[in-house]
Order: sequence, then C-alpha cells, then structure tokens
Amino acid sequence: MAALLRRTKILATLGPATDAPGVLESIIAAGVDVVRLNFSFGDPDSHRARAEAVREAGHRLGREVGILVDLPGPKIRIGHFVDGKVHLTAGDRFDLLARADAAPGTAAEVGVSYLGLPGDVAPGDVLLIDDGMMHLRVTSVDGQRIATEVLNDGELSDRKGLNKQGGGLSLDALTEHDADLIKVAAQMGVDFIAVSFCRTAADMHKARRLARAAGSDAYLVAKIERAEAIENLNEIIDASDVVMVARGDLGVEIGDAELPGQQKKIIRESLARHRVVITATQMLHSMVESPIPTRAEVLDVANAVIDGTDAVMLSAESAIGRFPVRAVEALARICLGAERQFDHDTDFEAAPRNLQRADQAIAMAAMFVSEHIGVRAIIAITESGGTAGFLSRYRSPVPIFGLSWHPGTRRKMALMRGVIPLDFDSRGMDTRDAVHNGVRRLFDADLLAVDERIIFTSGDEMELRGATNTMRLLRVDETGNAEILGGL
Ligand code: PGA
Ligand code: MN
Repeated sequence: MAALLRRTKILATLGPATDAPGVLESIIAAGVDVVRLNFSFGDPDSHRARAEAVREAGHRLGREVGILVDLPGPKIRIGHFVDGKVHLTAGDRFDLLARADAAPGTAAEVGVSYLGLPGDVAPGDVLLIDDGMMHLRVTSVDGQRIATEVLNDGELSDRKGLNKQGGGLSLDALTEHDADLIKVAAQMGVDFIAVSFCRTAADMHKARRLARAAGSDAYLVAKIERAEAIENLNEIIDASDVVMVARGDLGVEIGDAELPGQQKKIIRESLARHRVVITATQMLHSMVESPIPTRAEVLDVANAVIDGTDAVMLSAESAIGRFPVRAVEALARICLGAERQFDHDTDFEAAPRNLQRADQAIAMAAMFVSEHIGVRAIIAITESGGTAGFLSRYRSPVPIFGLSWHPGTRRKMALMRGVIPLDFDSRGMDTRDAVHNGVRRLFDADLLAVDERIIFTSGDEMELRGATNTMRLLRVDETGNAEILGGL
C-alpha cells in the first residue's frame, strides 16, 4: 500500500495571499482538501474568479478540492471614525448610536449597524469590540443612544465587530444579504454553505430551504460561535450536515475558560450525531507573520486531532499571512504525526448512538468487523456520500475509500476524516460487477495488494441514495480479483 495517508482534512481560507501567482496550486499540492471563500469580504465576481482558479488548479494537480462558502451573517459592526480610529482610556465615557445615519465617529461616540441593539442591552452588560480587544460596560440606554464606560485603554478603528459578553444579541442569523449570497453560492455550484452566528435549528432549516430552492445540494455548515448556539447545540447539530467550532467569535462570547470544554463537547456530540466537524480559527495564528508555528499551536492542532475533529482550518494564516504554503505543510505534518502517535483501536465509546437507518447499521457492522477481523481498507460505493460519512464517524485507523461517480459527492467526502474519495462510475453495474470492478480500481491504483482483506459496502440498487444495505468481506486474489469470503 502507498505512503501513509493523512486522515484529518485541511481547510484553508482563500484571500490576497493565495491570489499571488502559484500559491493556490502550492497549497493544494501541500494538502488542502477544501477551500473557504469568506463572503464577508470581496464581491461575487471575485469569489467566482477564486472558485474558478481552485477548479483549474485542482484539475492540473488531479485533485478534487471542495469549496465552502462562508456567509457573513449578522455580524454587528461599529461604523467609521472621522480619523479612521480613536484612542480610548479606561474610565472614559463612550456612546454607541444605533442609527443608520450616524455621523462618523469620534472619541466620544460612534454609530453601530444594528438598530435593535438598544433593545438587547441593559446597564451592566459588557460589550466586546474587535474580538475582545476593547471592553465597554453599558451604563444607560436612552432611545438610540447606549452610554458606556470604557474598561480598558486601547484603540478602536473603522468597522470592528461587536459582541456582548455572554451572548444574547437577538439578531436573525440569516440576513437578507445572506439569502442573496446563498443564490450566488448555488450558481457557483459550491459544496458547502456555512451559516454564521446560527442560534437555532430553525436558522439551519431556513438556510437549507433557501439553498435547495436556489438549486444547491450543498452540505449546510453550522458555525457554533454564539452562546445561544451552545444552549441549542444538539438541535443545531441535527439540523446540519457539518458543524464548525468557530473559536474566534465563540471565545469572545463565552470566554477563554469555557472554550476548551466546549470544543471537546461540540466534537463529541457531532460525531455521536453522525455529523462532520471542523475545528477553526487561530490554529497557527503566529504563522501569519512567522515561518514556523509556536509549540502551543502545534499542541492545539494535535489536540484537535486527538479530540476527533474531521478537519482543521486556516483563516488569516492562509488568507492574508506571509507563509500560506508553510502553514498548510505544518498542518499536514502535525495531523499525520498525531494520527500516528495516537493510532488506537476503533473508538466504539465515542461512536454514533441511536442508529436509525439500514446504512447506519451496515456502517456500524462494517467497523466492528474491520476492527476484529483485521482488514486493509473499507470500500464504500456511495451516491450521496452518506455511507462514507457514517463509516468515518467511528474514528478507526482503517482507510475508507469512498467510490462515487458524482463529483459533488467526492468533494463532500473530501472533508470527512479517513475518507479517500475516488472516481468510480458504477452506473449500469449490478452489485457483483461493482464489487469486482471496485476492487480492481484500487488494485490497479496500487492502493490494495494481493492477499489483503477488505470490507465492501454497497446497496442492491446502485443508483439509489441511502440504499446501502450490504457488506461483504473480501480477499484480493493473486490476479487482483475479489474473492468473496462472506457477507451480510
Ligand atoms: P469567522 O468565523 O472567521 O468568519 O469569524 C470563525 C470564527 O469565528 O471562529
Ligand atoms: Mn466568526
């Protein structure tokens, strides 16, 4: 079998740094599985150009790279300042004006984009601006004017984001702008759409309805980055395909002390509920400026892998950093190392509960057999990627080959831990042909060798979604054909 395969997937945010000649191709070659287009910045034409560049670079490298669109969501921002920025001193009074027509700000006051803010805050609340760099305590609310006391010395500049400590700003998760951008994402044919600041399952259902109405079959990603989302975690996970531990905003809302425990809980619940999970933000933040990560960052990435995340994500490191390629190389290296050193038996403790479907049951059985009889790989013929997803929830050391003729399904599987998507046209084949041709496909690609045992899952009806109902135990015979040893 070929070189050790990295199981944990790499997501990288595109930006000016990856627009530089050759960089996109280099980060894909270095291991990026899925790219993130951050719709908070840039216009639809620039996003379309980047998506096109990803497809071209992937094509040149023979790689299918998934594309994730991240919707801006209702991020509350302060307005502009007369001089671009102001310096504030602890003890100063500083007012926020919730008006669309607020004049440019000064050291005394600034406008804020969210007109409902006065209704969502009360005296005593602490407001955090610029990812927590500036703290303000609300002293009074009078009409559109929120008076605050500055709690720390610091600088405020144009359009910085604003959160409330402990959460509770009641903005709708999906703005009208987001709804328009879902249509743009649908036209671009992207594979994942991420909902920023979702609060409830209803937010995710609404995003899904909008995406489907626009003709997109993208997986919906719930970004867990608000205190309310933590309260409604399980219903949000159930309403999503993919979950993101969005540590930037989440850390601001719930505080450092809560963040590590919540990361572990979100990952655990996502796996138990058959969902894919991404760990995001500041994973290698020092690499925005530095060619090597700090030891603390190395440990953070490795710990996310040990926690069981499907993917780790780069934000500023790849979008605007000085060393995007080295950052991807560092992630790939650290993930592989953590997987090798913590390569244990399949973790049935952390495995999904509440099996409800035949394909989930087959996945469970396949993992159990692979663990106890010892197999080289599991091969799943999949229409929608569902079976590969169910198999990969078990965090086994055994590679899972997801064979699909749908390019979109292969790009979705690119985000699943331990799944290697492969192009395989099973249309028109009966199950027997699919088994033999599937094994042959891997044998010819040097991914299987003579005498190795494998598990093969498929459905009776090749072109039906969610129809996996069979598993077979096979051996690769001397000529590369599949010898069936047993099945159920
Ligand atoms: P963002 O989301 O990068 O869009 O802010 C991720 C996070 O908040 O961690
Ligand atoms: Mn965020």
